[in-house]
Amino acid sequence: MSEAIPYKIYLSEDEMPKEWYNVRADMKVKPAPLLNPATHEPMTAEELEGVFCKELVKQELDNDNRYIPIPQEIQDFYKMYRPSPLVRAYCLEKKLDTPAKIYYKFEGNNTSGSHKLNSAIAQAYYAKQQGLKGVTTETGAGQWGTALSMACSYFELDCKVFMVKCSYEQKPFRREVMRTYGASVTPSPSETTEVGKKILAAHPGTSGSLGCAISEAVEVATHSEGYRYVLGSVLNQVLLHQSVIGVETKTAMDKYGIKPDLIIGCAGGGSNLGGLISPFMGEQLRGEADYRFIAVEPASCPSLTRGRYGYDFCDTGMVCPLAKMYTLGSGFIPSANHAGGLRYHGMSSVLSELYDQGLMEARSVGQTAVFEAAEQFARVEGILPAPESSHAIRVAIDEAMKCKETGEEKTILFGLTGTGYFDMVAYEKFHNGEMTDYIPTDEELAAGFAGMPQI
Ligand SMILES: *Cc1c(COP(=O)(O)O)cnc(C)c1O
Repeated sequence: MSEAIPYKIYLSEDEMPKEWYNVRADMKVKPAPLLNPATHEPMTAEELEGVFCKELVKQELDNDNRYIPIPQEIQDFYKMYRPSPLVRAYCLEKKLDTPAKIYYKFEGNNTSGSHKLNSAIAQAYYAKQQGLKGVTTETGAGQWGTALSMACSYFELDCKVFMVKCSYEQKPFRREVMRTYGASVTPSPSETTEVGKKILAAHPGTSGSLGCAISEAVEVATHSEGYRYVLGSVLNQVLLHQSVIGVETKTAMDKYGIKPDLIIGCAGGGSNLGGLISPFMGEQLRGEADYRFIAVEPASCPSLTRGRYGYDFCDTGMVCPLAKMYTLGSGFIPSANHAGGLRYHGMSSVLSELYDQGLMEARSVGQTAVFEAAEQFARVEGILPAPESSHAIRVAIDEAMKCKETGEEKTILFGLTGTGYFDMVAYEKFHNGEMTDYIPTDEELAAGFAGMPQI
């Protein structure tokens, strides 16, 4: 097509997705099922329904239906802040003086500041449909808790958030945003749960981890009438909801006849990356196209690049089902780093399986290099990126610079998952030259692997 490509490609409301795309339907080898931690048998729908909402369990176990209709109420909510723009990074290309064509899909245009609202609203909707009183969850950096608070207040559901203690203390403003939307926020580990008390007794003074907060949230959900637990990443259902990112991107690119060569995303639990790549991966799996996919993770928490592929616990308290994934072991506690949302020990089973089959690549990057890329991007594209998102920016810039050397005019697409306004302490450390690049040793990783169950 000869039509000039605008800086921003938007879709009209009519062009917005009416269905989520389920990449599992096109996978020849399906992701491994969740296992009951006591029996090591695949979790049945009935068992899962004690923890999760009924309709979400159906989505979690659905490996066959390619398209799942998006309920009208969720489509309407999406219209408040979607479609998100697909931006041609002309300014960055010019600054880098690269022949590469760079595009990013920007998910930071809502108050939660990230893509997480795409799944939060779906999960709150199904909880409301089921007639529940409320939901419980954990949050690390705070984006998921914020997104879920917004979604719950929209549907008038109670929302109990367990926030990793160090974030609770370091990010008081995040906490207040959640409370503005009516959520109750408890620093984790806490004395309010049995598992929290146990963790505190074993590790007095601990600043907490996502794995601990998950255990507490699950305990409260399973012990309170009318409550279920919801999770913001990792699970199949979350990747399904996040496919709205990829479906919008693909529709927008198809309108202008654009084919990306490289698709890049940051990977914490894998939801934004899984969502972005899903429809493209579907084409690849059906033999209709040929793309390169790159997952980018922090060198301090390298689950794909240095982890093991096997069944592991999803949480520290070992109360959740076992998932087969690339993992550093549920006992692995990453060093203090500033990419809060990328600090989970494991990775989505869907992405783990695709990576294991060689259908996706992975790369790890150091923290300082990530902030260099973040700043370079902010200065030309205007958006102040989240540290998590900046992992993808780092690799997109690296690939664009390779094109400069070789003269190749590759088309690069990356996911810009959110904004970094609540991460200014991290930017401050970077500006003051106080940022460190801690990389775990093989011995430290071995300690994490040793805690994996023998299956
Ligand atoms: C949570 C988060 C991530 C990482 O989570 P995934 O499930 O891997 O997508 C990335 N970027 C931002 C801004 C986040 O809030």
